[in-house]
Amino acid sequence: MQTPHSAPGHVYFVGAGPGDPGLITVKGAQYLEEADVVLYDALLDERLLALTPAACEKIHVGKRGGHKSYAQEDINNLLVQHARAARRVVRLKGGDPFIFGRGGLEAMHLREAGVPFEIVSGVTAAAGVAAYAGIPLTHRDIASSAVLVTGYEDPTKTTPSIDWSRLAPLDSTLVIYMGVSKLAEISNLLLQHGRPADTPTAVVEWGTWPRQRTLVSSLECVAADSQARGIGSPALIIIGRVVDLRPYLDWFESKPLFSKQVLITRSREQAGDLQLLLEAEGAQVGVLPLLQIQPPDDPGALDASIGRLHQFSWIIFTSPNGVDFFFQRLHHLGKDSRAFGGARIAAVGLATAEHLQAQGLHPDLVPQNQSQDGLVEAFSSISLQDESVLLPTSALGRDLLPTALTTRGAQVERVIAYENRPPEPGSVDLPPALQNNALDLVIFASPSSVHHFAALLGAEQTHTILSSTAIACIGPTTAQAVADLNLEVQIQPQESSIATLVQAICTHYQEKPHE
Ligand code: SAH
Repeated sequence: MQTPHSAPGHVYFVGAGPGDPGLITVKGAQYLEEADVVLYDALLDERLLALTPAACEKIHVGKRGGHKSYAQEDINNLLVQHARAARRVVRLKGGDPFIFGRGGLEAMHLREAGVPFEIVSGVTAAAGVAAYAGIPLTHRDIASSAVLVTGYEDPTKTTPSIDWSRLAPLDSTLVIYMGVSKLAEISNLLLQHGRPADTPTAVVEWGTWPRQRTLVSSLECVAADSQARGIGSPALIIIGRVVDLRPYLDWFESKPLFSKQVLITRSREQAGDLQLLLEAEGAQVGVLPLLQIQPPDDPGALDASIGRLHQFSWIIFTSPNGVDFFFQRLHHLGKDSRAFGGARIAAVGLATAEHLQAQGLHPDLVPQNQSQDGLVEAFSSISLQDESVLLPTSALGRDLLPTALTTRGAQVERVIAYENRPPEPGSVDLPPALQNNALDLVIFASPSSVHHFAALLGAEQTHTILSSTAIACIGPTTAQAVADLNLEVQIQPQESSIATLVQAICTHYQEKPHE
C-alpha cells in the first residue's frame, strides 16, 4: 500500500471547486481517497464523493435539498468529535474553503479545541466560473484589479459592512458572490454612487456545470434581465468592462453538445468513460442504470475453460465486459495472459480490442464491420474445420455467432463470463430529464440496454420517450434492436467504439444544431 498522505485525528478542509469535479486539486483528491469521514456541503458533484473509500462515512451538512440542516455549531462539534475518534476527516467545501466559505470560522474552532488541521485551497467561484464564462477578471488596459464581494450579509448585522459608495467609483472588476437575490439593490447602489449605467455586467448561473447559463447585460438592466430569465442561486455577478471580452473568449458554452440533455443507458460501473467524454463536449448527462452486471453465479464452467485456455485455437471476445470479467477470473485463479499460450484472439470491435490491449494482448482479428456478422464474415476466409473455439459471453449472449461458426465445422464452447440482468422494476431512480421529458438524445451501447429500457419503462412509454428524442447507437447490432421496436436511429458511428460514438454525436449536432 502507498504511504498515506493524511493522518488520523486530523481535519482536512478541502476546496471542491465550483462544480466541475475535474477542478479539485490533486492534494484534495488524495485526502478524499483516504478519508474515514467526509462532511460536505450542498452543490457538489457526486463523483467527488465517489473518490472516497467504500467504508467512508459521508455526512451532508449543507442547507439545500430538504436534508436535515446542521447549525454551524453542530458542524464544528462533529469535526472535533470525529477527529478525536482518530479518524481522517475531510471537510469538503464548495470553491475555496477560505473564500466566503466559513472555513476560517471552522478552523478557528478546531484550533481552540486543539485539533490539528490543514487547508487545501480550491478553485474559488470567481476564478472557475469566470474562466468557464470566458471573462478574464483582470486584463491588460481594461482592468488591473478585481474585488471579491459578498452580496449577502449576516441579516443580524445592524450596520452593513460593505460600503457600496466606495466600491462604485473603483476601476476594478467587481465579483459578487451570493448576490442574485439582491441584484436590484446592489445595482441601484452602484448606479447611485456613480458607476456608469452601461457598465457591462454578467450573471453566471451554475458556472462550470454542464447547465451553466450566462446572462450579459448592463448594470442598469441586469436586475430586470436576470429576473426575466429566471436566474437563481448559485450565481456569480461580474461587473466591469472585462465582460466585453466574452464574445472573443467563450469556449465552454460553444462546445458542440453544450446544453444538450443526454441520457446514457449503461450499467453504472460502465457509464464513466462515456459520461466524461460527453461532458467534455458540453453535454448534460443523465445515467439510467439498465444493466446490472456481475460475475457469473457459478464460475465453475468459466474456471474449467480458463484451465484449458492454451488448447483452444481461437478465443473470441464479443464485448469489453466479456474481456474484463474473463480477466478478473483469470487473475483470481492466479494466472495471467501467458495462460493463452498460442491461442489466437479475436475481438468484435475496437472497444473490445482496447480492453484486451489493456491486458497486454493484441487481438489477431478485429473485423472491419464491427459486429457479430462482421466476425462471421471475417472468419469466412479462415479454416475452422475441427478447430476449437472459446466464446466467453454474457448470460444473454446471442446465438448467431456460435451457430455460424459451428456450421463452418468449428467446435464452439460458449461460456458465461458475466451475468447481465435487467434491474428490478422500481429499483431505479429515473434521471430528472427523463422524468420531465426534457431529453434531446438517448444513447444505447448494447442490444440488451435497448431490451431492458423497454422492459423497465413499458412499450408505450418507451415509444413516447424515444420518438421525441434523437437516438444514438454504438453499432449495428444495437441499432437493429432499436429498429425492432419500430424506432429510428439517427446517429451511429462507422466504427463501434465509445470515442467514435461521441464523435458521431458531435458531428450530428454540428450539422443540425437545433435538433
Ligand atoms: N467558498 C465558495 C463560495 C461560497 S459562497 C467559493 O470559494 O467559491 C456561495 C456563492 O458562491 C454562491 O452564492 C455564488 O455566488 C458563488 N458560487 C459558487 N459556486 C458557483 C457556481 N458554480 N456558479 C456560480 N456561482 C457560484
